[in-house]
Amino acid sequence: MKRRYKNDANEAAPMIKLDLFLIAFLSTLTIRMVAVEPHQDEMSAIAPAISSISVMTDGFDFPVGAPNAKGYYNAQKFGVNNHLGDDWNGVGGGNTDFGDPVYSVGKGRVTEVSQFFGGWGKVVRVAYTYQENGVEKQVESLYAHMDSVYVKKDDILNRGQKLGTIGNAEGIYLSHLHFEMRNKIALPLGQGYSKDQTGYLDPTKFIKAHRPK
Ligand SMILES: [Zn+2]
Repeated sequence: MKRRYKNDANEAAPMIKLDLFLIAFLSTLTIRMVAVEPHQDEMSAIAPAISSISVMTDGFDFPVGAPNAKGYYNAQKFGVNNHLGDDWNGVGGGNTDFGDPVYSVGKGRVTEVSQFFGGWGKVVRVAYTYQENGVEKQVESLYAHMDSVYVKKDDILNRGQKLGTIGNAEGIYLSHLHFEMRNKIALPLGQGYSKDQTGYLDPTKFIKAHRPK
């Protein structure tokens, strides 16, 4: 049946009302979460509704040995040999860390899951939004040489959620996690090494400066 378009103006009104209702409802939820600290079961009932609307992380943890990189060391720090990330290795050395969990450093959205082979192997990228001095900012992290990957593009990850395991890029390296942080989303893949650090952040320095409150 053909609709009568002359009534559209009237039909729009309830939708605006619904939007206002939603905004009011969500504001109430946010205030409620902060103000009364609901019980755990109540929190988990609310969480899905919030995460589907706004993905904002409350801070950043380390990608291995979460939250503090316990049991791991940074074998090649950002800037050393023009390295554009950190190389996380288990303190046991060699391949003892092969298959260890890799965690999302914050709450964010998966922007890429790819197998590049060669020097990169399996790569996961996650975009994170956070607030600093009242300003909303975004960073993107890149997790490379992974063995297993448990996430897919557009998944919403919690801080500390396991996204995959430490690998060796199909046997090219002794296993470790190459971990980068960029100050923009969707920068080119890059080479992992460069004298030009434009767009790249020192991941350890960044995480230490943005721990959850
Ligand atoms: Zn590396």
